[in-house]
Amino acid sequence: MDNAMGRYLNEHVLSPPETLPLERRRSFQIFVRIYLFVTAIHIVFVPIFIWVDILALNVLNLLCIIANFLTIGLHRRGWLVLALLLKLFFVFVLVVVAGMLLGNDVGFEYYFFIFLLEIVISDLQQRYKIILSGLLLGAFLIMLQWLFGLWGSWPLGDLARRMLLAFNLMTTFVLITFIALQVYIVSEVTERRFRSDAYKDSLTGVFNRRAIIERADMLWRQQRPFAVLLLDADHFKQVNDSYGHGAGDKVLHHIAQLLQRALRERDCIGRVGGEEFLILLPDTNFEEGVGIAARLRAELASQPCRLDKRILQVTLSMGLAWSYEKRALNDVIDLADRRLYLAKFSGRDLVIAEGGESFGITARYEMYVSPSSTGEA
Ligand code: GH3
Ligand code: MG
Ligand code: MG
Repeated sequence: MDNAMGRYLNEHVLSPPETLPLERRRSFQIFVRIYLFVTAIHIVFVPIFIWVDILALNVLNLLCIIANFLTIGLHRRGWLVLALLLKLFFVFVLVVVAGMLLGNDVGFEYYFFIFLLEIVISDLQQRYKIILSGLLLGAFLIMLQWLFGLWGSWPLGDLARRMLLAFNLMTTFVLITFIALQVYIVSEVTERRFRSDAYKDSLTGVFNRRAIIERADMLWRQQRPFAVLLLDADHFKQVNDSYGHGAGDKVLHHIAQLLQRALRERDCIGRVGGEEFLILLPDTNFEEGVGIAARLRAELASQPCRLDKRILQVTLSMGLAWSYEKRALNDVIDLADRRLYLAKFSGRDLVIAEGGESFGITARYEMYVSPSSTGEA
C-alpha cells in the first residue's frame, strides 16, 4: 500500500510531467516539494488555529491547503506564474490577517522572508522578481508599521503569545533550511545527470570521445605515465550486413561493457569512433600493457555476444603506445593508431605494441610505475 502510494506520489506529483519544457523541470522539482512541505506545515497549524479560536484564521488556513493542491496542478500543466501567485496570495492574506489580529509580536512577519525566497528562486522573469520583491518589502513595512495588531485584542495570555512566536520562528527557520536544501539537492542531481550525459556514449554506456580525450589530457598534464590502447572491431561492416544494424549496435554495447568490466579500477575506456575504442592505462609498463591487451582479447573470445541463440563472434585489432614514447599527447595517440593499422595490415585479431616511429622505445623498462599499480596486469 505504502509502495503503491509512493509510486503514485512520485509519478503523478513529484516527477516533472513530460509536457513541461526541460529547462523548467528543475524548478518544478524544487517547487513541488516546497508546496507539499508547506501543506504539511498548514496542517500543523490547524490545531493551533483551533486553539487560538479565531474562525477567520481557520478558514484561511484551510484555503491555503486547498490553494497548495491547486498550485501543484497548475504547475504540472505549465502555469508556473499563476501557480506561484495563487499560493503566495492565499498565504499572504493569512499572514496579514493573522498579523492584524494577533500583532507583530507573535512572529507572522517572518513568513515574508519565505515569500521573498520563493520569488527569488522561482521561474519568474528577472524584472517580475524585482517588482514583486519591492512590493513585498513595501508590504512588509506597511504591515509592521500600521496594520499588524490593528484589530488585535487577543484573548490568550502572554505565555501563549511567546509560544506562538517561538513556533513561528522555528517554522520559518525550518522552511528556509528546507527550501535551501531542496535547491541544493535538485541542482546537484540535475548537474550530475547533465555531466554524465555529456560524457557518456549513449549506445555503449562508456565515455564518449570528448570525455576520454579529456582524461588523457589530464594524465598528460599531471605527467603521469600511461599507456594508450586503441581497439577496432574487425570486419564490423560484415556484422551489420549479415545481421542488421540493430544487431551491430548490440554487439558494440556488449564489447564496450565487457572491456569495461575487464579493466582495472584506474583504467578508463571511451568510444572514439563507430567501432573503435580508446583505453587509458595509467602507471602501466610495457609488459603490463601488453598483458592487459592480450587478456581483453581473450575475454572477448571466450564471451562472445549472444543474440537470439546466435553467437556473434567479433575479434579486435589493437595498437598500444606509451606516454613516454612521444613529446605530445596527439603523437602518442597517433602512434597507437599506426600500430592498430599495422595490426589490421598484419591479419587482424592482433595486438601490436612496437614499431611505428617511436623515439623512446628503448626507455620502456625505465618508466616510473607508481606503487599503487602493482595489481593485476
Ligand atoms: P576493419 O576490420 O578493417 O576495421 O573492417 P570494418 O568493416 O570493421 O571497418 P570499416 O571501417 O570498413 O567499417 C566499419 C563499420 O562499422 C561500418 C559501419 O557501418 C559500422 N559502424 C560504425 N558505427 C556503428 C554503429 O554505431 N552501429 C553499428 N551497428 N555499426 C556501426
Ligand atoms: Mg573495424
Ligand atoms: Mg574503424
